[in-house]
Amino acid sequence: MSVLRTRFAPSPTGLLHVGNAFSAIICQQWAEQQQAELYLRIEDIDHTRCKPHFSDQLLEDLQWLGLQWHGEVQYQSMRSALYDAALQQLYENKLIYPCFCTRKSILQDIERIGLAPHADEHNTPYPGTCRELAPDYARVRMQQQSFAWRLHIHHASMQVDAALSWLDEHGMATPVNLHQMQDIVIGRKDIAYSYHLAVVVDDADQGITHVIRGEDLRSSTPVHRLLQALLQLPSPIYIHHKLLHDPSGQRLAKRNQSTTLQSLRQSGIEPEYLRQHLREQARQSHALWHGDFGT
Ligand code: GLU
Repeated sequence: MSVLRTRFAPSPTGLLHVGNAFSAIICQQWAEQQQAELYLRIEDIDHTRCKPHFSDQLLEDLQWLGLQWHGEVQYQSMRSALYDAALQQLYENKLIYPCFCTRKSILQDIERIGLAPHADEHNTPYPGTCRELAPDYARVRMQQQSFAWRLHIHHASMQVDAALSWLDEHGMATPVNLHQMQDIVIGRKDIAYSYHLAVVVDDADQGITHVIRGEDLRSSTPVHRLLQALLQLPSPIYIHHKLLHDPSGQRLAKRNQSTTLQSLRQSGIEPEYLRQHLREQARQSHALWHGDFGT
């Protein structure tokens, strides 16, 4: 029988909080139940936000929590050769193009052509300004100006099966709606590779069979499935667990300092107590899959 593998993949952009611990506990419990291997990957590709002292603290906090992972910890910041090769493959297949737009110029273009601006600033529609620049002109500008690599969704949709979908733990297929996708950024000058590119390369390289992560990342899964198809990588099964909320119904987030593992440790909470509490939360909210999340 082949080995099942999952991973916990935090980003060291701040101190680990209870919401992260919840995710880690869910990954660990799933791995125990399935006799699967659990890997730990530090997603520190964004050097503008990730800090080494947060990585060190994160390891300490996870050890305190009792997370047991398989093999060496993997750091994305040490794996750029793999991401470079993937970027090169997309470039050679005409699936990415350089984009010289700034946030400001995109907003101006949107206003000029009368596109409705998006309420979510991270989801601003891209008006396609640099999509069809003449290759020679683009090459000259690349020498002079900073740029981002964008995925050419139209070219991409011609290279993949129109019925592309991703699978969940029940074997249910969710279609990837290519018509709703933007020309997303895959690399930038300051952060050479996007989270989307790095994560699909790493999941394939580590032989991850099941990706277990929070509901908040569900909207990234179609993008990941598309990149897997374009890079001819295997696609794992995706399990999106519910997120932990505080008693007032607010989602626990990094900005809420009172729920960091560090502050819980300092207040004298025992890791066993926290583990049990999080398992109970997961069971009560059916965080993972209906009814069968035993303690
Ligand atoms: N690094 C991501 C985060 O901390 C998780 C990525 C993933 O599980 O795919 O939100």
